[in-house]
Amino acid sequence: MTSFDFDLFVIGGGSGGVRAARMAAQRGARVAVAESGALGGTCVNVGCIPKKLYSYAAHYAEAFEEARGFGWNISAPTFDWSRLKANRAKEISRLNGVYLNLLTGAAAKVINGRAMLLDAHTVEVNGARHTAAHILVATGGYPVVPEIEGRELVVTSDDMFDLDPFPKRLVVVGGGYIACEFASIFHGLGAQVTQLVRAPQVLRGFDDEVRDFIAAEMRKAGVDLRTNAGVAAVRRSAAGLQVQLKDGQILEADTVLYATGRAPNVAGLGLEAAGVAQGKDGAIVVDAHYQTSVPSIHALGDVTARVQLTPVALGEAMVLVDRLFGNGQRAMGYDYIPTAVFTHPNIGTVGFSETEAREKFGEVTVFRSDFKPLKHTLSGSSERTLMKLVVETASDRVVGLHMVGPDAGEIVQGFAVAMKAGATKAVFDSTIGIHPTAAEEFVTMRTPVGA
Ligand code: FAD
Ligand code: NDP
Repeated sequence: MTSFDFDLFVIGGGSGGVRAARMAAQRGARVAVAESGALGGTCVNVGCIPKKLYSYAAHYAEAFEEARGFGWNISAPTFDWSRLKANRAKEISRLNGVYLNLLTGAAAKVINGRAMLLDAHTVEVNGARHTAAHILVATGGYPVVPEIEGRELVVTSDDMFDLDPFPKRLVVVGGGYIACEFASIFHGLGAQVTQLVRAPQVLRGFDDEVRDFIAAEMRKAGVDLRTNAGVAAVRRSAAGLQVQLKDGQILEADTVLYATGRAPNVAGLGLEAAGVAQGKDGAIVVDAHYQTSVPSIHALGDVTARVQLTPVALGEAMVLVDRLFGNGQRAMGYDYIPTAVFTHPNIGTVGFSETEAREKFGEVTVFRSDFKPLKHTLSGSSERTLMKLVVETASDRVVGLHMVGPDAGEIVQGFAVAMKAGATKAVFDSTIGIHPTAAEEFVTMRTPVGA
């Protein structure tokens, strides 16, 4: 190893790259990280963190409305988009500094610049060559916009955080995580939002009842959510932009957001030259240990186009570093990964949808509760909450847990531990609830659906 400049050279200082670099350096490895943009990657700069800050901002709109029922008198609140943007930018730049300190504090060398592989052990950044025993590619992904007329007029999630001016009329194309979250958030902040989904329902892959429930809640809140809706063209108009739908209808908009999926960031990386095998859309192919077709080159996170979530990239990084610079041989478990969609209301889910569970386990027992949360008995809001358990009948194991409602992500995280541990419905039933909460419903559902 000592003949190389570094033990580990990480390309990409995002969620996975920073975690791998920091942990490897803390274990005494000589580490370098090359980052072409801002440290922290997608999650910190244009993903999870700014998105969640804007979601908090948007929730105040309903909080002001609901406060009246609890005795508060509030004169018409006004929203200052510039102040939110400035405060967000300040916080993100603080986080960029935190990431830099974490890396330099662990004695990892941070190199600003775009890196490229030259061979199995050599990376070039800003014209300088660096050799390393191991190279980790953690370059993430980028938003993909399909080839449509007027493609150059639309924006992606990367652009949404700094829009100027605030879009009074927003058209969102897509029905996945990003489209649903941004539709909810910008509606909450005061935009008139139309969401166009090409499929019959939003959030393909989620439990069907969850999909129907969130679509109904978003519509009730005021998002003009249209399914089976395709875009023919986007054009400039006197008043902004015009979106022409495939059925001929025309929508007027200030901003058109395309949230139609992401692709691996592999352009110009030198993967072909280094002999690294790629799959669909260029995704780097790895084995269970994140090793590519070149044994000294590893890859993880979004660039491998598997589960595109920050905690998954972090988990993969820790498994890899354990193996390369520790004694670890453990593999990452991809079952029961909890996830939240920060729509309004939130979705939290872990395990299998009812449909998936029926396919995998055969007979399943389903428990469902759909209720008006206590808070809304006084708030005046008509928002409802959905909770659902899917149980493998033969083993009594809870294999799917789904929620649509306030703080669903916070609630489902704890239940994910129980599900990883293999909790049965009998264990749920013997767990005492916390009263009065919404979460207690998960341990008090006794009557199966259809019983
Ligand atoms: P990234 O974090 O994308 O980091 C890759 C880094 O590599 C970038 O900084 C990039 O600049 C750098 N890079 C690329 N090419 C090169 C090169 N050649 N040389 C040097 N540097 C390079 N996940 C969640 O779990 N929860 C959420 O709430 C959530 N919200 C999201 C919201 C949005 C709008 C988006 C887009 C994503 C969201 N995600 C969320 C997904 C999450 O951000 C990603 O899964 C995660 O960031 C992936 O980490 P990564 O390390 O693979 O890549
Ligand atoms: P998704 O893959 O989740 O959704 C893409 C959406 O775009 C789908 O509804 C898809 O429809 C639709 N679509 C694809 N191509 C077209 C097209 N040509 N025309 C119209 N619609 C199209 O991608 P996102 O961009 O929303 O997010 C990427 C990933 O980032 C997520 O999968 C998730 O892993 C991660 N993420 C996580 C978040 C969280 O944890 N809260 C938040 C945001 C992102 P169809 O279903 O018909 O294919």
